[in-house]
Amino acid sequence: MTTQYEAVVGLEVHAVMETQSKMFCDCPVVDSTHHEPNVAVCPVCAGMPGMLPVLNKAAVEFALRVALALHCEINSTSIFARKSYFYPDLPKGFQISQYEQPLAVNGWLRIPTESGELRVGIRRVHLEEDTGKLTHLGEDGDRRTLVDLNRSGVPLLEIVTEPDLHTVEAVRNCAYALRSIMRYLEVNSGNLEKGLLRIEPNISIRERGSQALSTRVEIKNLNSFRSLERALEFELARQAELVDAGGAVQQQTLGWDDVRGSTQAQRSKEVAEDYRYFPEPDLPPLVVDDKWVREIEADLPELPQEKRKRFVEMVGLSDYDAGLLVAERSVAEFFDAALGAIHKADAKMLANWITGPLFELLNKDGYSIESLPFGPEPFAELVDMVASGEINASSARSVLSEMAANGKKPKELVQARGLAQISSETDIGELAERVIQKNSQQVADYVAGKDEVLNWFFGQAMLASQGKANPTLLRQALRVQLDAARAQKEAS
Ligand SMILES: [Zn+2]
Repeated sequence: MTTQYEAVVGLEVHAVMETQSKMFCDCPVVDSTHHEPNVAVCPVCAGMPGMLPVLNKAAVEFALRVALALHCEINSTSIFARKSYFYPDLPKGFQISQYEQPLAVNGWLRIPTESGELRVGIRRVHLEEDTGKLTHLGEDGDRRTLVDLNRSGVPLLEIVTEPDLHTVEAVRNCAYALRSIMRYLEVNSGNLEKGLLRIEPNISIRERGSQALSTRVEIKNLNSFRSLERALEFELARQAELVDAGGAVQQQTLGWDDVRGSTQAQRSKEVAEDYRYFPEPDLPPLVVDDKWVREIEADLPELPQEKRKRFVEMVGLSDYDAGLLVAERSVAEFFDAALGAIHKADAKMLANWITGPLFELLNKDGYSIESLPFGPEPFAELVDMVASGEINASSARSVLSEMAANGKKPKELVQARGLAQISSETDIGELAERVIQKNSQQVADYVAGKDEVLNWFFGQAMLASQGKANPTLLRQALRVQLDAARAQKEAS
């Protein structure tokens, strides 16, 4: 997009609240990728006439956790409304949602961007029920559509941000931040691929410097953060080109086609009147007691942005390292616990061992930090052994993979494999001498001025010590002895 235009983006996020049961009945919330279709359905969520919905208190509590974490004002009375439309995955012909008086309004969150922290407004947070799922099969002439109602009536939280996002980076970081907050609150797994978290940006452009809002489009079907970024870039370029050519952006809903890398028109955007919202006559207004709200608020965990700030200001980490550690709550808690257990290493070294070797191990073997057979204390012990010089970094890495394989304590493994670092100056001096004596040709090269031969000797000696030599001492010893040989030659 040319610099003439500015992007104006707001997010509409739908998150499945992972409660035990559905929003208005006792059916369990199941993962449809592991269950047969239509196994978690009853007359209420199948939309049979005359059935009465009963509100699930846990869904309200989950929603309140998110609303409070986003600093929203909680409406003590909110109203459920019928949103009427026809679709085969919606047997009732309407969806129970909240419209005029949502659960919560006027919140905000802070997100990191390259140009500093950005405050993003939250317009509203409300509860609604999910629809069923359609699967389209077959080719032309033999097309069938299957309906699975396992998802029908699952509690869904809708979060609508203000259009405060003006770069692709800001949109991505805002989506990440919302996902991370909901994972910290343990209300949503954050899985975009399975559709448990759906992020739909509404996008418009305007002349840079203008404050006007232009016609916007909404994009659906984004099942990864990568798709979100690609769709934004594509759509911003499309709108700029259209406006440059004298055209006008149409208000519509677009679907992202990941294979073609383009957006496709799905339908012209509905306006609220199309849904003929009216208060749901089968549900009383939702009244939330202030005492209950304060209790939920008091129980909120420390959230990612607060943790990040603490890691920078109190622990002394860089903002970058802090950002890596807080992305997942389990990692941040692992760091906190390990920090309390170290004696020799410092916080920075510990952070580096988590974001370096430990993350590598997790990525390589597909572990999550919770599934590791060792906790933060043995990990802290290992890092301490490196800090005190008992073992060197490369031995520590191999001990770490063994710990992941068998859960044994680092001290045991170091002892059993004889990995303790050779740090005695006498031993290191002898090691250097042996390697130098065996390789007269290379000594001659060094004496003749080839300084880089020192690295070759270092490699040979390290190998001879099976990786156990203290690297700093070894390099020192080799340099002293080789320089002595050179001096002798010059003197003769
Ligand atoms: Zn049901």
